[in-house]
Amino acid sequence: MKQSRLFAPTLREVPADADVVSHQLLLRAGFIRQNAAGIYSFLPLGKKVLHKVETIIREEMENAGSNELGMPALQLAELWQESGRWYSYGPELMRLKDRHGREFALGPTHEEVITSLIRDEVKSYKKLPLNLFQIQTKYRDEKRPRFGLLRGREFIMKDAYSFHADKESLDVTYEGMKEAYKAIFSRCGLNFRAVLADSGAIGGKDNHEFMVLSDIGEDLIAYSTESDFAANIEMAPVNTVYEASGEEKKELEKVKTDDAKTIEEVAAYLNIETSQIIKSILFIADGEPVLVLVRGDHEVNDIKVKNILGADQVELASAEQTHSTMGCKPGNIGPVAVSENVKVIADTAVEYLVNAVIGANEQNYHYKNANHGKDFRVSQFGDLRFIQEGDPSPDGRGSIQFAKGIEVGHVFKLGQVYSEPLNAAFLDENGKNQVMTMGCYGIGVSRTLAAVAEENNDERGLIWPVALSPFDVHLIAANSKDEVQANLGEKLYLELKAAGYDCLYDDRKERAGVKFADADLIGIPLRVTAGKKAAEGIVELKIRKTGDVTEIHVSELVEAVK
Ligand code: ATP
Ligand code: MG
Ligand code: MG
Ligand code: MG
Repeated sequence: MKQSRLFAPTLREVPADADVVSHQLLLRAGFIRQNAAGIYSFLPLGKKVLHKVETIIREEMENAGSNELGMPALQLAELWQESGRWYSYGPELMRLKDRHGREFALGPTHEEVITSLIRDEVKSYKKLPLNLFQIQTKYRDEKRPRFGLLRGREFIMKDAYSFHADKESLDVTYEGMKEAYKAIFSRCGLNFRAVLADSGAIGGKDNHEFMVLSDIGEDLIAYSTESDFAANIEMAPVNTVYEASGEEKKELEKVKTDDAKTIEEVAAYLNIETSQIIKSILFIADGEPVLVLVRGDHEVNDIKVKNILGADQVELASAEQTHSTMGCKPGNIGPVAVSENVKVIADTAVEYLVNAVIGANEQNYHYKNANHGKDFRVSQFGDLRFIQEGDPSPDGRGSIQFAKGIEVGHVFKLGQVYSEPLNAAFLDENGKNQVMTMGCYGIGVSRTLAAVAEENNDERGLIWPVALSPFDVHLIAANSKDEVQANLGEKLYLELKAAGYDCLYDDRKERAGVKFADADLIGIPLRVTAGKKAAEGIVELKIRKTGDVTEIHVSELVEAVK
């Protein structure tokens, strides 16, 4: 590709509303443009990297026996009503009506669609297990879209779903998917950990997130210095339990009304000292109640329980009141002083915390805004919520360190939470009707791209790993007005192309300084410059990451680029 024909509008200034480096650089280097909050266009460079991420994912998924399919983004409301998520998913679900007034959702995920597809097509154990994936645009009306592609409202996900005759078969596929994910994120050059998810009290072995360790991560990870042990210790967003029916409802009412706890009871329930949680603080950030638990004098601000209160209870304290009491800016959940007033609010909050915890610790009890099946917690490691840095690792090997993580993937044993309500059944070997067992496996494709950008850059711009770079080589004619340099550039461009390299050739009539600055910003790992020594057939090779420069004769170029 000749750069004079490439649509890659670069910016010299840091865009004002971009607060993390990946977002800034992807905008500045002309990889993406924002269309609306959390909604982006991928410009040609961004699209090329996206393709590379997708190709890696495709190869590893197919290698693990998953078949690619494509499902609709527009999904019938009826399906979501069947699973119950139409009522429980909350405002993150984008809903719309067709011209006949029929209701639809724009898919944030595809459990309902795929379960209905499989229930209609697969009737016998002989067709199981099955593993299917798609790479597709997803829609989630995130409360706070931010960090560019990292938290969008329209984003690209790889989602896979597996169907099984029994749990043992699911276990095999689940392990296979974990291995595939490790291969995918390794090929993307990411520093990641597979962590036990939802470690509140959690479904350790049935639910893993793949976390890229990063200071801008939104989750708090506890990991062992010596072993593979790692757990997400940020609690899942919780709310009052959802509209349940029958027996469930009665139980939930009981929890809501009878179970208001004192702080002593909370401490006893959590098996910790009272003094360790009296600094629990409820406040409202951007209209959203947030509970910060501070254990002793260690401020675990990242352990936050969102949406603990239903909308009608948000009256407890107005945002202004809370923020002025807390002495912090709206939206700021950093360390705050604890005053008398705050303690009163905190006591009340803790009552609700206990309610919430009880709710989702029972099978078939669900948090509002949580994916069914992703909120039931039973831990093989016990309650990790109050684990601290330096504590011994629960597996007995090494001690605990904290890091922040970006969730790039999530694998989950769903069991029968969708197959049961949607009635996905098959005939087993004895001709008996059985409910299918399911797993689901997601990767944030566009988020992965941004995570790679976040971890690979310097003050001059992006630095793509070879596997994901938009081009293999960046060839530059330093002065395109100089005939010798321009001719050599043209010749090398054709040679590199013929040798199978995807080459970006900067043939623009710009100053050399502009070209070099753009090249650094775009971040292709290898740069070849035809400059002052073009007449002697000498070009300069520069490694973007290290800055190492070597001069070689053009006759050695194709060999050197390898
Ligand atoms: P998060 O905790 O960040 O909100 P999630 O747990 O809601 O993510 P999943 O339902 O597990 O997300 O979806 C599978 C994957 O899709 C996630 O692991 C993540 O990589 C990606 N993803 C989820 N939400 C977004 C988003 N708003 N923008 C970009 N990628 C996303
Ligand atoms: Mg989410
Ligand atoms: Mg998550
Ligand atoms: Mg997740």
